[in-house]
Amino acid sequence: MRSVRKTMLMAFIALLPLMAHGDETQSGEEVRIGVLAHRGPEAAVQAWTPTAEYLNRTVPGRTFRVVPLNNITLDEAVAAGSVDFVITNPGSYAILEATYGVTRILTLRNLRQDGVYTQFGAVIFTRADRDDIETLRDLRGKSFMAVRADAFGGYLMALREFREAGIRPERDFTRIQYVGLPQDQIVLAVAAGEVDAGTVRTDTLERMAADGLVRMDRFKVINRRQVTGFPFLLSTGLYPEWAFARSAHVPEQLAHQVGMALLQLAPDSPETRASQSAGWTMPLDYTPVHELLRELRIGPYADLDRIDLETLLRHFWHWLLLLFGLFVVVSMVAAYIMRINRRLSHSQAQLLELAGALEESNRVLQEMSVKDGLTGLANHRHFEEVLAREWARSERQDMPLSLLMVDIDHFKRHNDRYGHLAGDQCLRQLAAVLHSAVQRPADLPARFGGEEFVVVLPETGTDGAQIVAERIREMVSRLTLEACEGQPRPHVTVSVGVATRVPRDALTPERLIAAADAALYRAKDAGRNCVMAHETGDEPPGLRQPSPA
Ligand code: GH3
Ligand code: MG
Ligand code: MG
Repeated sequence: MRSVRKTMLMAFIALLPLMAHGDETQSGEEVRIGVLAHRGPEAAVQAWTPTAEYLNRTVPGRTFRVVPLNNITLDEAVAAGSVDFVITNPGSYAILEATYGVTRILTLRNLRQDGVYTQFGAVIFTRADRDDIETLRDLRGKSFMAVRADAFGGYLMALREFREAGIRPERDFTRIQYVGLPQDQIVLAVAAGEVDAGTVRTDTLERMAADGLVRMDRFKVINRRQVTGFPFLLSTGLYPEWAFARSAHVPEQLAHQVGMALLQLAPDSPETRASQSAGWTMPLDYTPVHELLRELRIGPYADLDRIDLETLLRHFWHWLLLLFGLFVVVSMVAAYIMRINRRLSHSQAQLLELAGALEESNRVLQEMSVKDGLTGLANHRHFEEVLAREWARSERQDMPLSLLMVDIDHFKRHNDRYGHLAGDQCLRQLAAVLHSAVQRPADLPARFGGEEFVVVLPETGTDGAQIVAERIREMVSRLTLEACEGQPRPHVTVSVGVATRVPRDALTPERLIAAADAALYRAKDAGRNCVMAHETGDEPPGLRQPSPA
């Protein structure tokens, strides 16, 4: 229903300019004055028709007509260009100015309590006996009454003060009632205690008191302000009175003629009396009104806090660019670091591999340095080291140390008959026998040189050493050597010399070797394939060196 009415009204408004401006040159061309009819259309027509008629008389060739409008239709009429002038309250004027380029040419001289005022404000009040309400903040948790949510003097002025005091009425008040005009009902409701507090435009209380409707001492003004020259109770800032403004399309000359004519209206003329004012004056500054609208985010300032993508890009493109640049740089650095890291871990793996290989070669080298290449037994150098170590240990512990010297019998002949390769194979087999013949972990069989072997037997006396020697001799005599093709199986025996000493200062490891060697000679002399123990006095004066391999 409402939207149908609104559509019809819009169509009507759209047709108005055609009707009004049908013929520009014709005399009596209609000039439409849109009036904010806050007390209803009839009251507005009654108040301003005498002024329109005055203008008819004063401005030649024009017919002025009053068009009563409400907040919405006034906005629509200005938007459609169907009104040429507007008479409206400061809030409405400031919105039309910011939105459609409407310009004030005059400000109303309002007639209040026999005085003339071009500014007004609002009063926020409660009952005088309300001890719990002294400041704006005390209104938290209270009920409140105002004209309308969008009434400039009837609510918005008070709302600005609330916001400044940190109060959000929709959240902090228990209830807000909007009761419309006349404002007298708000005063009466507060007086009757139906509501805790309320707001009305300035001079309302004084007018009602003068008319005997209320007593001033029944009320208490909250957030009281004093402005010199302004006699009424006041809680807010002062704002300029209603404006007489021209639409953007109105020619300069017409605006001039209308402005001049209205300025000349006498305060006591019938026209001004009809409008219950003292006529018009030069326009005031409406900046405070704009400030209020901006603070409350109303009308043209509603979107002030909204930031769209375009605005963001327009204002912050250089920051965004910088951010993007930084992002690119950081990404590149990160990629570079990752690449370096990858390379580093690759190199690290290679290094570890190399270290492993090095360790292995070291181990092999170490093994090679102590082992004999042909038989895998300890070599001569390692034998000397172990003998020296065991010699020292036996000396400390006062224990006997034995040494076996093992020599293959007639090995030269064996070589001659079967060849050197078979001889080498025989040496390897003999080494295996030595390896298996010793049982204690500290025992060490070693290749002394050529076809001569030694066995170090720590903590072993003569008897024990002879047992080991005999075991070796016996095992070798039973050893089955590998045969060469078409040859009978070769057979070898060994002679073993045994020497045992408890190390003393005067003795040396070399003397032990010499003693074992001397015993070996005695075994050879005794016919070979036998074990001989050393007897004192039978080692030769010179120390034995290993025979060449
Ligand atoms: P004897 O019973 O008196 O010990 O007689 P023999 O022939 O064994 O005499 P000797 O101990 O002097 O012999 C050394 C021979 O051992 C010389 C060489 O033919 C042989 N021989 C020494 N070292 C090696 C070797 O590494 N490999 C081979 N196949 N033969 C070796
Ligand atoms: Mg020999
Ligand atoms: Mg020999």
